[in-house]
Amino acid sequence: MKKEECIFCKIANGEIPSKTLYEDEKFRIILDLKPIGRGHALILPKAHADDLYELPEESASAVMILAKKMAIKMAEKLHSVGLNLVQNNGEAAGQTVRHFHLHMIPRYSSDDEKINWIPGSPTEEELETVRKQIVE
Ligand code: AMP
Ligand code: ZN
Repeated sequence: MKKEECIFCKIANGEIPSKTLYEDEKFRIILDLKPIGRGHALILPKAHADDLYELPEESASAVMILAKKMAIKMAEKLHSVGLNLVQNNGEAAGQTVRHFHLHMIPRYSSDDEKINWIPGSPTEEELETVRKQIVE
């Protein structure tokens, strides 16, 4: 199902033109208009889901299979030597477009910037507390 006024619904379904790398019945892969690097692409399901929480399991598996195929193609064609997959869910995570998308960011030997964060240093007890909170 499409969602009115969702730009990625319109792009995924071909109502707004995009730099398409791949399309099938359920997905479209496009170039990001403001790429972090050469070949930065987005995998978009044609059916609207806000984010991973809403994405049907079947689409979630299909997305990863597509990502793998496109990763191999990018490495062959762009001579990229690494790849970051990034997928933001919710405002707190920096999601700006509320239609599920998986970022594919090919990386090159000349890249000096890594996607990074400041590593924390929790105690064993803190790790155990969060582990329990999740699994129990
Ligand atoms: P996120 O922060 O994960 O929601 O990422 C949204 C991404 O969509 C950003 O990298 C934008 O550059 C990209 N984007 C937004 N609008 C368009 C568009 N019309 N075509 C292609 N990419 C877009
Ligand atoms: Zn949408």
